[in-house]
Amino acid sequence: MTQNRLSIADPIRTNDILRKYKLRAKKSLGQNFLTNEKVLDAIVDASGLKSDEIAIEIGPGIGALTEKLAQVAEHVYAFEIDDKLIPVLADTLQYYDNIDVINQDILKVDLDEFVKDNNLEGKTIKVVANLPYYITTPIMLNLIESDYPFQTLVLMMQKEVAERITANPGHREYGSLSIAVQTQMNARIDRIVGSKSFIPRPKVDSAVAVLDRLPKEQIDIEDPEFFNKLIRSAFMQKRKSLMNNMLNWLGRTDENREKIKKVFEKCGVAENARGEQVSIAQFKQMAVEFSKN
Ligand code: SAM
Repeated sequence: MTQNRLSIADPIRTNDILRKYKLRAKKSLGQNFLTNEKVLDAIVDASGLKSDEIAIEIGPGIGALTEKLAQVAEHVYAFEIDDKLIPVLADTLQYYDNIDVINQDILKVDLDEFVKDNNLEGKTIKVVANLPYYITTPIMLNLIESDYPFQTLVLMMQKEVAERITANPGHREYGSLSIAVQTQMNARIDRIVGSKSFIPRPKVDSAVAVLDRLPKEQIDIEDPEFFNKLIRSAFMQKRKSLMNNMLNWLGRTDENREKIKKVFEKCGVAENARGEQVSIAQFKQMAVEFSKN
């Protein structure tokens, strides 16, 4: 079926497609097309997609990753915001009967409803994407917090964001985003990808991040809303001590200072610690201790 054609990702074919459709990559939509087949194959490998599993892709572009996903998954649902790319994708992906391209803004899609409407409940669904970088964080957090527990997310993103989501306590990059991700997912960087792998080249280095959902019993946060408030407050002013940030949140009274001191003591947090030194387990315990009083 695909034997005599160059892959869409081949730079010669990508440039041919761009020329044929008079396409100019739209910076405003984060359009940087992947033209490195090794990277694409590594992304698909990292997803571990099997023939009875479903792939959701965000931003298929001209279809380079989409066709690779269609070669291994049962079905691919690809959400593309740019109307101009829809006829292009109909052409480049015409040889595949297991792809649906949906012309929608991913941030406006209720993925839980989408899963229900397409009878995908109970299926293993993996999200695989070379993300539009201008909305990496909201897309990623929506996927993580969605009611449907997507098993695995393999996401190409800016290297700097990948470093933040995988950072451990004690590192400069560790903060509220690391915690938002790591409370739900096991996150690792599969590889760093240089700008030469894309047409046009992005200004930043990229990384493929792999996020696997943690088992339910490891996501033991009783009151997620309160936990999120605690984390937001803890990192409100990153350079200040955690004590200071907690006082700003709860109110600067002697009573609160004593209360916070006690909670810190119980959780093994030093009085002068900064948020970036505190582990997720300690934050979880702090949330429990605070809600006791
Ligand atoms: N998957 C292709 C590849 O790897 O070559 C293209 C990736 S490109 C980095 C990002 C894609 O996301 C573009 O096709 C862009 O039009 C699309 N996109 C941007 N914002 C979007 C949104 N809000 N919803 C859906 N797709 C979006």
